[in-house]
Amino acid sequence: MEKEEKRRLRVVLVPGPFQGHINPTLQLGSILRSNGFSITVVHAQYSPPDPSSHPDFSFLSLPDTSSDFNFLTGNAFDFVLQLNAKCKARFRECLAEVIRQQGSDDEIACIIYDEYMFFSEEAAEDLNLPSIILRTSSASNFLARTALIQLKAEGHIPFPESRSQDPVSKLYPLRFKDLPLSIFSSLENLLQIVSKVSNSKTSSAIIHNTIDCLENSSLTKIQQQCQIPIFPIGPMHKIASASSSSLLEEDTSCLAWLHKQSCNSVIYVSLGSIAFMDVKELVEMAWGLANSQQPFLWVIRPGSVRGVEWIEVLPESLKENIDGRGYIVKWAPQKKVLAHNAVGGFLSHCGWNSTLESICEGVPMICRPCFGDQRVNARYVSHVWNVGLELESELERGEIERTVRRLMVDEEGKEMRKRGKNLKERIELRIKEGGSSNNSLNELIEMIMSF
Ligand code: UDP
Repeated sequence: MEKEEKRRLRVVLVPGPFQGHINPTLQLGSILRSNGFSITVVHAQYSPPDPSSHPDFSFLSLPDTSSDFNFLTGNAFDFVLQLNAKCKARFRECLAEVIRQQGSDDEIACIIYDEYMFFSEEAAEDLNLPSIILRTSSASNFLARTALIQLKAEGHIPFPESRSQDPVSKLYPLRFKDLPLSIFSSLENLLQIVSKVSNSKTSSAIIHNTIDCLENSSLTKIQQQCQIPIFPIGPMHKIASASSSSLLEEDTSCLAWLHKQSCNSVIYVSLGSIAFMDVKELVEMAWGLANSQQPFLWVIRPGSVRGVEWIEVLPESLKENIDGRGYIVKWAPQKKVLAHNAVGGFLSHCGWNSTLESICEGVPMICRPCFGDQRVNARYVSHVWNVGLELESELERGEIERTVRRLMVDEEGKEMRKRGKNLKERIELRIKEGGSSNNSLNELIEMIMSF
């Protein structure tokens, strides 16, 4: 009976237009759907989610938003600012359409929007609809990002190279070089976005895809700073049903290859959906992996190596060297890969989804952050949760070989794997009935029903 009542309430989700934002937003949709809510996803035309992977959701596209943005040549924060400027009026029309189409037994309970889609808040307010913010990166990243404004005002940013190793006061364990600055935007645009996403005026709550046992102190600080409740309900990918929201086709052949490898022997390598490499870095990485003598599964997105299509630049001698021991794909079913018992380590850029997915499977990491929040996450992996090693210098084959062996073969890596398993178990308790993430989710659902 209770589920029947909730089924009539519709939640409108507004994902940010990138893979790392779409995944948790659709996971949240699945979680709410299984709790009886109807789901409408209103998305940008850039990187649209695939409706066929979620047949029980309705999808609406925001018309006329830029669909030709390219991370290699473009500027992500400028793109986000433009998207927000263009979308507000259109979003109001979309909502009006949802309201027009709804039957007498179906009403919008609230809008849940990605923090970067901040146009949603005003549009919701105009239509007298409650709204909730969804933050898809770590809580610690949010704090570091907010601190940028003050650090700039105090003259600490931009910082000279000589200060890059200095600790940032009140942001332990971060150093200046770990701050979530972006190579994709001018500092001014970044700060403009930071101030927009930190200054919500009318939203009722904030959802964080994190877990208190990972980020208790950051979550406490955020709650002290804001007037509205925060709900840490992560890790959402472990709570949601397993449907994929990949924008690229997953090459599942790598799972058959993994079945042939021994337990904990494979290092999985992926730099996520937006990071890029130079040809030199690709070649150094390839030799480092080959020389480590460990089996590896490596995701190289087509177009992710500047100036080449895919891996045609890898020398034949190297391809022969790794023959059989290395498996390269364009895109992997990452969650299944990390859950596979052959995978014993993850060389990652430390996007927040990848970090959570690795930690939740107890897989220790080699952190190779590229920009933004990845540096913050990498620092927490290596210096707070102690389940990873950081590659700090330029990508160089000897360093990669040594670090892979430290993680995959040495005692140091075995200790990390033990800590990883322990952390995994603690997280599993959080999502069970009575666990903190489960409690937060129940409170969130109660709030949505009370609107
Ligand atoms: N991912 C995937 N297959 C791949 C590489 C990545 O499915 O071959 C998924 C991964 O599981 C994660 C998302 O893409 O959910 C990447 O998000 P993340 O926050 O880690 O990094 P971003 O791509 O935003 O930099």
